[in-house]
Amino acid sequence: LDVVRDVDPRIADAIAKELHDQRESLKLIASENYASPAVLLAMGNWLSDKYAEGTIGRRFYAGCQNVDTVESIAVEHAKALFDAPYAYVQPHSGIDANLVAYWAILADRVEVPYLKKFEKRQINDLTDAEWAELRAAFGNQRMLGMSLDAGGHLTHGFRPNISGKMFDQRSYGVDAATGQIDYAALRETAKEFKPAVIVGGYSAYPRKVNFATMREIADEVGATFMVDMAHFAGLVAGKVFTGDFNPIPHAHIVTTTTHKSLRGPRGGAVFAQPELADQVDRGCPMVLGGPLAHVMAAKAIAFAEARRPEFAGYAQRIVDNSQALATGLLNRGATLVSGGTDNHLVLVDVDKYGLTGRQAEQALLDSGIVTNRNSIPQDPNGAWYTSGIRVGTPALTSRGLGTAEMDQIADLMHTVLSSTKPGASKAKFDLDPAIADRVSKQANEMLGAFPL
Ligand code: PLP
Repeated sequence: LDVVRDVDPRIADAIAKELHDQRESLKLIASENYASPAVLLAMGNWLSDKYAEGTIGRRFYAGCQNVDTVESIAVEHAKALFDAPYAYVQPHSGIDANLVAYWAILADRVEVPYLKKFEKRQINDLTDAEWAELRAAFGNQRMLGMSLDAGGHLTHGFRPNISGKMFDQRSYGVDAATGQIDYAALRETAKEFKPAVIVGGYSAYPRKVNFATMREIADEVGATFMVDMAHFAGLVAGKVFTGDFNPIPHAHIVTTTTHKSLRGPRGGAVFAQPELADQVDRGCPMVLGGPLAHVMAAKAIAFAEARRPEFAGYAQRIVDNSQALATGLLNRGATLVSGGTDNHLVLVDVDKYGLTGRQAEQALLDSGIVTNRNSIPQDPNGAWYTSGIRVGTPALTSRGLGTAEMDQIADLMHTVLSSTKPGASKAKFDLDPAIADRVSKQANEMLGAFPL
């Protein structure tokens, strides 16, 4: 850090403070983790300086031999890890991976047939009238994705997001009584709406998803089935989600982030059936800028780490911990969306404590517990204040905490939530500072046994 400090000490201090904060607080953000030192070091180096637009062995720049090596190895590990026929490791983030996938699907479903229809090989050969027809066809495609309040992601067709403008979108949600996906209702919506794309996957849904059933529905309506496994990729890699619950053999195309339960660097990846591979390969430069070679190196390391036998144990412990946390909260009277969890996350309905998500999030943060507020199904408080708190176990499991600690954490969370009183606005609240301080100290003591 001294090298950085020489240039601007404020940046060096912020980096050091981030490490301190991550050491000292209970990191329960479901989308975060601690990457290994090998992953972090593979990222901070001279590969960052190289431009390498294009694909392996076919670049728009000279001198890409080392990037070719790095990308090939990352692809090799990614394919082996997920048992996938094709992998693309260039996306800079999960949102970028989804954009690459959407464009690949649209190119496959719209561009390729139109080029055939116009008997043209290249898009640049189209007349203005043909081009206008093709563009109009792009704008007419439909997407069926999970609604935001049921746990979907904003890139799954949410109107303010670009995906909501690329596609005419309709949502599927969860059954009001069970909090779980109602596949019969999903099938009905798909039959009526006839989407070009059905998107599975989520940011805040605490249950397994049956991807085999979703693929059947997609086939019935002729849709391309895409799964965004950003949140649970580590559980797929660690063979906790297998059979119907592993999206790789069922979906036409699968996207992921690499930094959540997978424990890699910030980034994304796309897996596809061979017939979509050519279109996905065009991701850079059609959708993405030059690949981040240093991050692809770190992805290769993370995939290699996840291929080790011990990763399966880690993935199973993530779920064991999540279920222990859920049980601990339920035992103390909390209400959980869907009544529990099958995966790495738990969604607490804080309306039952008389709080908004915003109040609960800040009260917990003041007590050394880092979570995020989240909408719950049919949320009365909207997407900004919300009525839920999302908690996840990948990060604390990486530090070595187990089910006994999860029960203690449930106790600390319940203490804070039941001691917090709503204030004059949806953001304000009252919490006795002595309670916040005591919980914070207890959390810190617990973490002392699991050094980072
Ligand atoms: N997809 C899902 C399901 C996510 O939960 C997220 C992030 O939270 C993303 C995509 C976007 O990932 P990124 O922040 O890397 O763009």
